[in-house]
Amino acid sequence: MDTLLNIKKEFPIFQNNPDLIYLDSAATTHKPKRVIDRMGQFYSEEYGTVHRAVYNLSMNATDLYHSSREKVREFINAKSAEEIVFTRGTTDSINLIKNAFRSKIQRGDEIIISEGEHHSNIVPWQMLAEETGCILKFIPLNDQAELRMDIYEELLSDRTKLVSIAHVFNSTGTINPIKEVIRLAHLKGAFVLIDGAQAISHLKVDVQDLDADFYAFSGHKMYGPTGIGVLYGKKAILQKLPPVTGGGDMVEKVTLEKSTFKEPPHRFEAGTPMIAEVIGLREAILFIEAIGSIWITKEEEKLASYLINEMSLIEGLKIYGKRSQKTGIICFNVDGVHPLDLGTMLDLKGVAIRTGSHCAMPMHSRLGCTGSARASLGAYNTEDDMARFITSLKEVIKSF
Ligand code: PMP
Repeated sequence: MDTLLNIKKEFPIFQNNPDLIYLDSAATTHKPKRVIDRMGQFYSEEYGTVHRAVYNLSMNATDLYHSSREKVREFINAKSAEEIVFTRGTTDSINLIKNAFRSKIQRGDEIIISEGEHHSNIVPWQMLAEETGCILKFIPLNDQAELRMDIYEELLSDRTKLVSIAHVFNSTGTINPIKEVIRLAHLKGAFVLIDGAQAISHLKVDVQDLDADFYAFSGHKMYGPTGIGVLYGKKAILQKLPPVTGGGDMVEKVTLEKSTFKEPPHRFEAGTPMIAEVIGLREAILFIEAIGSIWITKEEEKLASYLINEMSLIEGLKIYGKRSQKTGIICFNVDGVHPLDLGTMLDLKGVAIRTGSHCAMPMHSRLGCTGSARASLGAYNTEDDMARFITSLKEVIKSF
């Protein structure tokens, strides 16, 4: 696949909606044909449950399930496939850690997050604080939506048990210095969870290089199916965490009095898993690998900087967040125009953008607004998409 246009052709949604300019990949990405077909093939030719039966279909499904886990391991460079837990998505992964940490947290312990997080990296920790009496602290942002690392260093203490930070902010696209966040937390003996939802399909992620203790992401934001996500966790840490959901498949032995649990990752995957989705996720990774993560990063950067340059010339349009160190997410407002009206008018022209708070209300308070418009890129976006978006945006703004 050497041109962007060829990548777009891989996606049936654009064949079926040739005029669609899709700029909401930060919310969810579309699916290439190979992912849709692979899941269809599994259901129509290969379907069976995993781990449980001796018949051929089930053994084959089990092999496919395991090879998907191995593919995820390789994709993020985890040391072992046992460090890959399948979940329903980023939200589910974060909540898994929140629930598993409950027994490790005491009143007065501290958890650090930032002002810029997605609600799914805020609300679980507020719940944990309610449940345990631990204290939630926030790394403030500067006016460019960057972490105040100087204040972060001051917030870290011997009571810090966990730091949970987005690799990339979903509202501004800011790439956070997570390697340094992790290094500083480890000096205090704290664990670090990275919310990788907005990074995984845009940047090359290497969990060993980052030295992340946990890394969470969703399949549907990386050209894969909904209902599947990943929680990476260092093996030695996962082994010390209790399961949070009980049921079949996660147990070693069950008597009426007591149960013993399997080693990770199985102890965190109770019940029949999302088998087709796991296989679809593997196919999505193969798709990303066929294009190349580094190529995707560069192309998206090129398109984003074209957009930023063009949008900066529009009178009354304000882009939030520093322009360098960003992925292809552009968060903006136009003087005197409600973002919802902007989104609605753009939709009439076939342009899909996101409007509102993007599940990041505290971030918007920090940016000094209640909502914004957001254009976000995926590997299928082309230069033509960008040009048509800019033309439509100018027309819509003029009409107000
Ligand atoms: N974190 C970030 C940074 C996100 O962008 C999102 C999705 N918008 C999530 C977490 C939650 O992901 P999901 O809804 O797939 O669980």
